[in-house]
Amino acid sequence: MFFNSMPDVKSPNQVQIVRVKAGKPLTMYLTGDCLQVMTHWYKGKSFPCLKPELDNCPLCQIGVVQRYYAYYGIRSQDGKPRMLELTSTAEAQLTDCFRNCPIESVMLVTVGREPGKRNNPIHVSGNYKNCSPEELGEAQRVVLDKDLMKRSLIHLWGLPTTNGNITVHEYYLTLEKHIKEVINGNV
Ligand SMILES: [Zn+2]
Repeated sequence: MFFNSMPDVKSPNQVQIVRVKAGKPLTMYLTGDCLQVMTHWYKGKSFPCLKPELDNCPLCQIGVVQRYYAYYGIRSQDGKPRMLELTSTAEAQLTDCFRNCPIESVMLVTVGREPGKRNNPIHVSGNYKNCSPEELGEAQRVVLDKDLMKRSLIHLWGLPTTNGNITVHEYYLTLEKHIKEVINGNV
């Protein structure tokens, strides 16, 4: 499910995606919401799958496989909010790391891939420490919500934008039209 409410996607406010690169481990604070999306990779770009909101998704119909991605709101060590992109297996490791994590704790995540191939599996490890509400507030100073993540993905993926004055269903119809034009080579 990509949307359950319609954000104003004209807003310039957006954040970048952090992708895990082989041989370059990264450590960051886990601070925000998680957005789980079914996507399609087609003609060198990402698109959201339009099911189940629409009965048919043009990319499913032509046999392009679905790919699951989870986007976690994080704060990188330079203090900037970003979205960490994880596959389902990487997300399962993340969930394991924080299974017993108390609510009032700061979560520090390290992600990496073995050097070599670009698509080597992602390794996730995590640490947490209990803290006071003040410390937690400071650690989570920059929090990403789902709407900001959705808005950012729409910009990063080059999808049609709106000012938020249309319904979710109308936006899906706009996306369907856009994707059909991409398939037909008109975009
Ligand atoms: Zn689809």
